[in-house]
Order: sequence, then C-alpha cells, then structure tokens
Amino acid sequence: MYDVAIIGCGIVGAATAYELSRYNLKVLVLEAQNDVSEATTKANSAILHAGYDPEPGTLMARLNVEGVRMAKELCEKLDVERDQIGSLVLAFDDEDLKRIQKLLHNGEANGVPGVRILSRQEVLEREPNLSDKVVGALYAPSAAIVSPWEFCIALAETAVRNGVELRLSTPVTAIDKGEAAYVLHTPKGDFEAAYVVNAAGCDADKIHEMVGGSGFSTQYNRGEYYVMDKTQGTLVSHVIFQCPTKEGKGVLVAPTVHGNLIVGPNTGAVDSGDQVGNTAQGLDYVRRMAARSVPGINYRDSIRNFAGVRAQTEHDDFIVEESKFAKGFINLAGIKSPGLSAAPAIAVMAVDLLRQAGLSAQAKDHFTDTRRRAVFHRMTPGEKREAIRKNPLYGRVICRCETITEGEMVDAIHRPIVPTSIDAIKRRCNSGMGRCQGGFCGPRVHEILSRELGVPLDEIEMDEEGSYILTTPTKEAAV
Ligand SMILES: Cc1cc2nc3c(=O)[nH]c(=O)nc-3n(C[C@H](O)[C@H](O)[C@H](O)COP(=O)(O)OP(=O)(O)OC[C@H]3O[C@@H](n4cnc5c(N)ncnc54)[C@H](O)[C@@H]3O)c2cc1C
Repeated sequence: MYDVAIIGCGIVGAATAYELSRYNLKVLVLEAQNDVSEATTKANSAILHAGYDPEPGTLMARLNVEGVRMAKELCEKLDVERDQIGSLVLAFDDEDLKRIQKLLHNGEANGVPGVRILSRQEVLEREPNLSDKVVGALYAPSAAIVSPWEFCIALAETAVRNGVELRLSTPVTAIDKGEAAYVLHTPKGDFEAAYVVNAAGCDADKIHEMVGGSGFSTQYNRGEYYVMDKTQGTLVSHVIFQCPTKEGKGVLVAPTVHGNLIVGPNTGAVDSGDQVGNTAQGLDYVRRMAARSVPGINYRDSIRNFAGVRAQTEHDDFIVEESKFAKGFINLAGIKSPGLSAAPAIAVMAVDLLRQAGLSAQAKDHFTDTRRRAVFHRMTPGEKREAIRKNPLYGRVICRCETITEGEMVDAIHRPIVPTSIDAIKRRCNSGMGRCQGGFCGPRVHEILSRELGVPLDEIEMDEEGSYILTTPTKEAAV
C-alpha cells in the first residue's frame, strides 16, 4: 500500500511529488497520459507572474508570490531555463492609469518586490518597439519567463530519482473509499493508498466526484497563441501585458526562454479540457489586440499556433483543501493562471494539509536536489570537442534549426522518466522547436526512439496517447 497517491502529473502534481519525495514515504503518481506535462502545463504563456494581479488576501495572491520566489531557486537547482526579464502592464489612457495604480496597490499588499509605475518616456526607453500611444506602465522586475514543460519534467524527474513511483498511461477511472485506504482503479490494475492528492487539472471535479465529492465543477476556457520565429524574438525584452479584465490577463507579447516571441492568448469558453484546436476568430483577435501594444510584429514569421485550456471553477480562487466528503483526500483544483507560478507553494501547502489530515512524514537522510543536462549548443567549443570525444553521438546534429545532437536525445531517453513520443523528446531537448517545426528532424527522432526503446516504428506516437504516425497493414490486408 502507498502512503500517498497523486492523481495527475502536470506542474501541480509534479511539484507535490517533488515536495513529498523529501520524506520517507511510499508515494505513487498516476498520470493518464504517456508523459508528464501533457495537458495545460505544456500550453500556456510560460510566465512566472510577479503577483500583483490576484486580489490581496486570496490564496492565489499568497501562493503566486511565494511560488515565484521558490521557482527561482528550483529552476537554478534543477537546470530549468528561466529568465527574470520583468514585466510591463501598459496603460493607454486615464482609465488604464487608474487600473495600473490599483495593480500597484495589489502588488504592494501582496508583497511583490520592486513593483512601480514608469512614465511614458521610461517605458519607451526600455521598449522602443511599443505603440507610441502608451502613456505609462506598471513595472514588476520579479516577473520571469520559464520553460513550463521543462519545469514540470525537472520536478517529476527529481521526485522519481528520490523514490517516487510514476505510472504513465494509467488513468484513474474509479475510486473506492475503504476503512483505512482508498482503492484507485485503473485499466492497469488497482492501487491502494492511505491519502490521495487530486491534481487532475481540468478533470479534478470528476476525480472528486469519484469519492462522492461535490462543491466545484470545471468551466473550460481556451486561450490561443502564436509562436513567432527567432527573427521576432528580440522585438520586446520584457513581458508586455495590457490591463487585465474580468476575463483574464489579456493578450501579452513576450520573448520565450528559447529565443522566440509568444503572442496571445484570447479567452473563449469550450466544452472540455481537450479542445485545444485553434480558430480563425481566436487568432484574429490575438493579432488585433497584440497590435495595440506592439504594432510591428511580422506574422509572416509565425511558426506555430497552439491553445491551452484553463481549468476554472465557480470559485474565484484556487481550491487547495481537504475534501469535506473524504478524509485524507486533498483537492488541488481550479488551478488556473497563475498556477504555473504558484505550483511550488501549492505543493508545500498540500503537504501541510496531508500532515493535518494525519500523514506522518519524516525527512529523508539523503535527498537528491540537483539535476544537470548536457545541452550541446550551450557548450563552449572546448566542451563540445570533449563531449564528442566521450560520445560521438554528440557530433551528429539531428535538429538543424536548434542544433540538437543525437547524444542529447539518447541521454534524454535514458533519464528517469522515459520519453516515448517525438514531442516528448522535443520537450526535453528542444528538437523540432525551430523554423521547420520538425520537418527535417521528425523522421530521424522517430528512428532514434524506435532503436533506443526497441519498439517498432509504428508503435511510436507523435505526442499524446494514440497519436500514431505510421500504420502497418494487418497481415490479412497485406495478403
Ligand atoms: C491559456 C493559458 C495561459 C496560462 N498562462 C499562465 C502563465 O503564464 N503563468 C502561470 O503561472 N500560469 C498560467 N496558466 C495556468 C497554468 O498553466 C495552470 O495553472 C497549470 O498548468 C495547471 O497545472 P495542473 O497540474 O493543475 O494541470 P494540468 O497541467 O492540466 O495537469 C493535470 C494532469 O492530470 C492528468 N489527469 C487528468 N485526469 C486524470 C485521471 N483520471 N487519471 C490520471 N491522470 C489524470 C492529466 O493528463 C494532466 O496531465 C495558463 C493557463 C492557460 C490555459
């Protein structure tokens, strides 16, 4: 029997697993998908928000500011790309100036470091490519950009390295509440755990209902984006927001840690968490709104569109609490933005709630809290020569756009969480992230995965469960 079972391995489940892996506990993570970070965690704005946006006194406010502080340290220790470039919320008229003043008060009340208002001239000196209609901005130096999937993979990998058991492609389909334990049913067998953490993102309401719980339901809200080629990546050097509205933080323009430019999102209600397609209207709205801030974006240099779904509930705050219906069952639900930023702090709160519910947790004597990856294009010429001498696969560039070598891919395949799809390699190595979007390297990555995993080519998926690329005619059909 496990002490704790975590359902879902997005950033919230991964951070909770990492936090629990500090203790002498038997911890299991059940993830429906074939990789961690497969849902909302891989499809968002990738900002570690400073924390002036949530209303003071809310859980969101406290966990955002604390989470961002923790994320800084975690990214350093666990080798996650993060860049503290600061953010600007632009004001275009007197109404906006009042709004950024209110955000300043929020920021000060929430304990956001260094937040202040800049004049028009100060803003345009920092960001010459902004619209000349800007009249001022709120500056938050602690805002950062991050690789959201790398953050999640790093936390999950470190948890596994410290003894947490992760089962991928294992969706929880039903839960029985026993006297001393929960029994979690999956297509791959049943698992018993004394305590359960529900980190199932858009499906957290359905998981809670499995133990007879109610009190919140998910309302799905999609946000769509453009990712621009690196030619556009230096158009701005801060995260550029517009004033937030009831619908969200509005359309932003920001560099990414990989050197691209991200533009989006819009907001639009959808029926489920898997409706991640793009729409002409959504993208049109994104372009029009972004032009208010940065008029010179060249959309001919767009290399990808994507969308992510926000898990909102009828409550205007995160739900981080023990279920009123099931003892020892902790809901981490309604984790909309700034959930990526808040996740490390949500995880600490989840462990406190488990303890309050009776979990006895003794700290381990040995906890591995560092992680390093070999990234070829970051190496000096001398380091490159040495890497190739030790392993000639570092001399074979597979992804030409991003200069990613076969050595990095093979290393990624042999890490504690085995990537089995082409996009799982992309999330670990950045292959296929460039201008050609995998047109050249995709088939090579496919072959490398097949060879290293010892599985036929037609069993390799592009990304999510069931996204096979090749089909083999059945024997009957071939005859
Ligand atoms: C458009 C958009 C922009 C955003 N921008 C930002 C931002 O810039 N900064 C920020 O801080 N936040 C941002 N967010 C919010 C942030 O992305 C989320 O708060 C965060 O990713 C939520 O993580 P999660 O782990 O709760 O959910 P998810 O990442 O969705 O993970 C839940 C996991 O549970 C699994 N699961 C579901 N059902 C089951 C089951 N039955 N059995 C097993 N596993 C199951 C899923 O497969 C999934 O992997 C944004 C969100 C969106 C949509």
